[in-house]
Amino acid sequence: GKRVGVLALQGSVEEHVAALRSLGVEVVEVRDAESLHGLDGLIIPGGESTMIGKALAESGMLDAIRTFFYQGGAVWGTCAGMVLVSAATSVGRQPLLGLMNTMVERNGFGRQVHSFEAELEVEGFEEPFTGVFIRAPYFEMVGPGVEVLAEHEGKVVAARGENILATAFHPELTDDVRFHRYFLEEVLEE
Ligand code: GLN
Repeated sequence: GKRVGVLALQGSVEEHVAALRSLGVEVVEVRDAESLHGLDGLIIPGGESTMIGKALAESGMLDAIRTFFYQGGAVWGTCAGMVLVSAATSVGRQPLLGLMNTMVERNGFGRQVHSFEAELEVEGFEEPFTGVFIRAPYFEMVGPGVEVLAEHEGKVVAARGENILATAFHPELTDDVRFHRYFLEEVLEE
């Protein structure tokens, strides 16, 4: 079976764990570099990207996750996780993993707009997906090798590379597990 980690430093961890368990995969809560061993995939949840990035930098886990990724491990970043997997932020500097050829705009839908829901047309999904956006980012630019999966108001809110997925919204806060299944079936290596 597949083993998937959920980075458990801060943020919406339990909801991802529950969604993965409902799909029958073994789940590991990742708090240190050692826990990455033997995983097929890793989810980086929403939360506060500056805080999670700082914790990753201080614990040496930035490099551990990069190594995991470059050895073929699949990574999915949701919201703050989407910020962290990016190569660059359009404003300001903070520790990033830089796994994805993207430039991200944090809080891209406006600081006033704390949260909203939107029906999204997603590449490869037959029915729309309800995106729950909470101080969500978007990709301002995507480079070669990145495939856009969904846009909202002309802004890129879901995209993937070969072994990486990023969503600006929170699939784990809905009962719809299609993105979790997509990660397991289409992004993880067989
Ligand atoms: N705005 C937050 C950040 O940039 C992300 C918010 C979230 O993950 N819900 O870190």
